[in-house]
Amino acid sequence: MRALIHMAENDIHMPILFVGHGNPMNAIEDSTYSRGWEQIATEIPRPKAVLCISAHWETEGPAVIGNESPRTIHDFGGFPKALYEVEYPAPGDPALAARVQDLLGGSDAITLYTEWGLDHGTWSVLRRMYPDASVPVIQLSLDITLSFPQHYQFGKLLAPLRDEGILIVGSGNIVHSFYHADPRSNAVPQPWVGEFVEFIKEAVQDMRHERIQDPFPLGRSARNAINSAEHYKPLLYVAGLQEHGESVTFYNDGVDMAAFSMLCVKIG
Ligand code: ZN
Repeated sequence: MRALIHMAENDIHMPILFVGHGNPMNAIEDSTYSRGWEQIATEIPRPKAVLCISAHWETEGPAVIGNESPRTIHDFGGFPKALYEVEYPAPGDPALAARVQDLLGGSDAITLYTEWGLDHGTWSVLRRMYPDASVPVIQLSLDITLSFPQHYQFGKLLAPLRDEGILIVGSGNIVHSFYHADPRSNAVPQPWVGEFVEFIKEAVQDMRHERIQDPFPLGRSARNAINSAEHYKPLLYVAGLQEHGESVTFYNDGVDMAAFSMLCVKIG
């Protein structure tokens, strides 16, 4: 019986998600984007745990969160009080953190953080996907010393988790530029945004991963879109995990404040 249960679990090959998280107010406001996250959670198997790679946790050398109860980090300024009062009390998953360490080179290579928590790149989205915070969550940091191809290769090493019921989420924004932003949420997108979004959509659809690892030959739109690379880097992990023949679904394909693509991708 135990063997049968084990087989059933292994039958599920979890999809992977890239999430454009954008404005943290999506955590508490009803929007087309928050509704998109709610919807996608109903279309995928319920995960045993979530591993999130968020734009908002960068470290020198890679790290994972290994505590039983990661706190909710309100890592932003100038928002309404209600947003600072949000708590997302999802349990951690120390065993998964140890598994991630094993996959990425062992405990000497990957630092275990036991005092850290979940940043808004993670909880603002998961609060909409799993509002009761019942799914355990851990994060893997973005190591600032890695190149784009190295982040991509790091993502590949996480592949076995897809057969262990783990939902891997990269949370950032494909286009993210405060420099080009307009404070009005419905502002007309900057003229170069569409070119870059379409370039990335094609690269994902056709598995042109060399373009995702080095989009800069495209020119100005790529340089503008990756104005601050941390929001782009989670996509490299998702691309690294993409397998030949998997279905690709795009959703939340809008642009907020003229220069933030909210595009989300489900693979598998
Ligand atoms: Zn962000």
